[in-house]
Amino acid sequence: MKKDRGQLIVLSGPSGVGKSTVIAELLSQRDNIYFSVSYTTRQPRVGEQDGVNYNFVDRAEFERMIAADELLEYAEYVENYYGTSLKAIEDRLDQGIDVLLDIEVQGAAKVRARCPGALFIFIIPPSFEELSRRLHRRNTDSEDVIAGRLEKAKVEFREIPSYDYLVINDKVSGAVAEIEAILTAAECRVENRRSILTQFA
Ligand code: ADP
Ligand code: 5GP
Repeated sequence: MKKDRGQLIVLSGPSGVGKSTVIAELLSQRDNIYFSVSYTTRQPRVGEQDGVNYNFVDRAEFERMIAADELLEYAEYVENYYGTSLKAIEDRLDQGIDVLLDIEVQGAAKVRARCPGALFIFIIPPSFEELSRRLHRRNTDSEDVIAGRLEKAKVEFREIPSYDYLVINDKVSGAVAEIEAILTAAECRVENRRSILTQFA
């Protein structure tokens, strides 16, 4: 059933926990959901495509977008900018399409302040050692970058109490099932079903 307005969903979790993997699986299973492709100044990893994983831009272009107020939120993360295009997500939400953001904790805090109806999910690995293993196994970052990301993860974990839901990515299918359950529960909220209720008034 078509919704009046889409649900904004924020997914955060440390680099390497498996967000991209879980999101790809979720999008393959679920309709009416749009993944917001962020803008970043970081270099593409092997296999990443411009316009699919990220919109890759240089610092000058990113700073122009900040100055022009084109971003819902942005943050600097391990020396690169990352940000969400306001227009791309507003258009989808207006069309009744859910929008999923994969953003880190500072950006999530900005969305929390600006978008009261948004849903906040934090995703963790089954253990810290497993996070380190996944970052190494992905084989895309230098040892220095991995060390920086693991340090950053410890700081990010402190923000978990500000989130609505905690998902554990032990098996990908399990994490996807938990997110599906959260999204289904959100859809069943009375406030999200007001249009059906009019016939019973
Ligand atoms: P993120 O987007 O959070 O940075 P990725 O999706 O790139 O993380 O995943 C990091 C690495 O961990 C990848 O090599 C991916 O294949 C692997 N991975 C993701 N989820 C799982 C899982 N549940 N179990 C084992 N490995 C996983
Ligand atoms: P990565 O370099 O591993 O792809 O992403 C690094 C971090 O940046 C991740 O925690 C990811 O969630 C976050 N990120 C990706 N896009 C955005 C964005 O548009 N805004 C913010 N604030 N963080 C983002």
